[in-house]
Parts: sequence; structure tokens; C-alpha cells
Amino acid sequence: MRIFKQVPRILFGAGGLARLPELLPDGDGATVWVVDAVHRDAAVGARLPTAAGDRVYWFDAAKEPSTAQADALRDQTVADLPRTPRAVVGVGGGAAMDVAKALSVMLTNPGSSADYQGWDLVRRPGVFKVGAPTLSGSGAEASRTAVLTGRDRKFGVNSDYSMFDAVVLDPDLTVGVPPAQRFHSGMDCYIHCVESLAGTMINELARGYAARALELCERAFLADDPGDHREELMTASFMGGCSIVNSEVGICHALSYGLSLELGLRHGLANCVAFDVLDDYYGAAVERFRVMAARNGVAAPKGLPRGLSDEAVGRMVAMTLRMEKPLTNALGPDWRRLLPPERIVELYNRM
Ligand code: NAD
Ligand code: ZN
Repeated sequence: MRIFKQVPRILFGAGGLARLPELLPDGDGATVWVVDAVHRDAAVGARLPTAAGDRVYWFDAAKEPSTAQADALRDQTVADLPRTPRAVVGVGGGAAMDVAKALSVMLTNPGSSADYQGWDLVRRPGVFKVGAPTLSGSGAEASRTAVLTGRDRKFGVNSDYSMFDAVVLDPDLTVGVPPAQRFHSGMDCYIHCVESLAGTMINELARGYAARALELCERAFLADDPGDHREELMTASFMGGCSIVNSEVGICHALSYGLSLELGLRHGLANCVAFDVLDDYYGAAVERFRVMAARNGVAAPKGLPRGLSDEAVGRMVAMTLRMEKPLTNALGPDWRRLLPPERIVELYNRM
């Protein structure tokens, strides 16, 4: 039995972004905003409730975020500000939020963010941090992870210190998300729930979060009505993240990390590609995923890993095998025997 931390303060509701300053700690000093650059000339960018002296760093989320980007942002913040900022705010999808979490931790811990990829390696609390998701699904707003890609691995900085101190869940921030992105990010949440519910590390608390989040995802993606179900998906994303904090992901994520590392696939898309071949593990949920994909006109692309060199496939397999916790969650302590490298290659070949 472990002790789990949760995000202590939550502001939920349309228009919540305007009230974000109420969540900031007292005192003076600048707030550093890490904002997905997609919002730079858009409605969200124009509505940021910044104060005089704050810094806004526009984060290019065109690719999965890297340890190098997190380190560079720390260096820039240190160079730009006379002293440690009062707070860090991350506004964007999982990528921008994860970089904001990493920045907060790297402002108080020495070295490179790559040194902290793993479990509970962060020694000192980070700068106070607030997250405001503009995509629903990753659950990064609720999780204790900042997922970063380094030279040879994609891995999370997992610690209680890399969890937001407060979040703003403002469904209006997801207005206008392109349908394919909405689906891929939403399926990340769906898969988080399927994997935690099917896993061995689940407890009743995580089951409660995951079951409700799964229901909300299915309601949004199987709906006949044309609404975009913003509130439901934002709730599902947060609850899906809470379920993961109290359990673990599974085989899909272990395979998906290999796809992102080697092929540069975005996380949500990589999950969809991997989940589509996991009938043997998550049967009925994979069938429902296909129905949702068809209903939303988003097909998981096929054949992406084909044509890769043996070395590239070897790196993907090695990445998958590093995901010990998700694989233990999915298959139990005997996972190495149940999922040998040949089986992983076979699954990649089916994608
Ligand atoms: P994302 O942050 O990678 O963004 C995907 C794309 O959508 C980007 O081009 C981004 O600019 C754009 N975008 C963001 N908000 C938008 C908006 N409102 N309108 C239009 N476009 C918008 O996508 P994501 O699915 O939210 O997050 C995936 C990332 O999160 C991956 O890097 C993954 O590794 C990470 N992740 C983290 C956790 C965690 O617990 N920390 C969990 C799952 C995934
Ligand atoms: Zn995920």
C-alpha cells in the first residue's frame, strides 16, 4: 500500500482561466508561463491572465517534448529573471504541461532533467506550479509524471514534486481542437482507463476514477449528437490521470513509447496504432475502440513500423522492455516470460 498524492486545488468550469491568478501563491516575483505556441495568435493566447513582470514562453509542441527542451527552458528562465519565479504555469496539451512541470522541478534541482527520469529521483520540491489543459486526454494535469524524450528513451520524471499544485479545468480552452487530435488525445484517456482497470495494481479508488472516465469517453465518442462534449472529456482526462496515479498503464503504453521514440509518433496516435493490435490482451475494449474510431472517422494508420531496420526494431523492443511497471501491471511479476522480445516484434509487425 503506497501513499498517493493528488492535485490539492482544482478550479473547474468554463471561463476558469481568467481566475487562475487566484490559485497563485502570495508574494511578489514573476510567474513564468509555458504556453503551447498553437495559442499564440489565438483566443487562449489573448486571454492569458498575466501580470506585469511575468514571462510567457511559447512552447512549440510540434514534437514530443525532450529533456533538452526542458533544460533549455530552465537555462532561459534563470538568464531572464533576477531570481527564482513565484510560480510556473503550463497551458497546453500534455506536452506543454509536462515541460512546465519539468521546468518547475529543474529550477530547484541541479543537473539535467534526464537525471530525474525514473521513479522518485527528484530530491527537492519544485517551484509552485499550475496546469491548464487545452486538450483533453493525457491526464498530465492530474499525474505525477513529466514525460520527456531523451537521446535513447522516452521516460517520465515520476515524483510527488512533479505534480501540479493546482489546476484550472476550463473546457472552453478546448474549443476548436481538430477532430483527429481530439480523438487521439481522448483515446489516450480511454486507454489509460482500460489499462488501469485490467491491471494487477488497481485498487478501488483507481477503479472508481477509471470506470467513470471510461464511461465519459465512450459517451463523447459514441454519441449521436454533434456536440463536442468538452466538459465530459475534460473531466474524463482528469479522472483518467487520477486513476493512473493510483495504478499504472499497461502493454499499449509500453509499445507506444517505442513507436514515439523511433518513429516520432505523437503519444495519442501511437497509442491508437498499438491498441489496435492488442485484442489478445484487451479484447472487448479494442473492439469498442474500433467502433469509436469508425464513428469519428479517424482510422489508426497501418504499416508504420514496416521497413524499419533490425537496429531500429531492436531499439523499440528495448524501450518496451524498460517499461517494467506497466508490464508488471498488465501481466504480473512473470511478465518477462509472457512477453518475450519475439512477441514484442510480432506485435510491432502487426501494426
Ligand atoms: P500534445 O500536447 O502533444 O499536443 C498535440 C498537438 O495539439 C500539438 O500540435 C499541440 O500544439 C496541439 N494543441 C494543443 N492544444 C490545442 C488546442 N486547444 N487546439 C488545437 N491544437 C492544440 O497532445 P496531448 O495528447 O495533450 O499530450 C500528449 C503528450 O502528453 C505526449 O508528449 C505524452 O507523452 C504526454 N503524456 C503525458 C502524461 C502524463 O501523465 N504526464 C500522460 C499521457 C501523455
Ligand atoms: Zn498515455
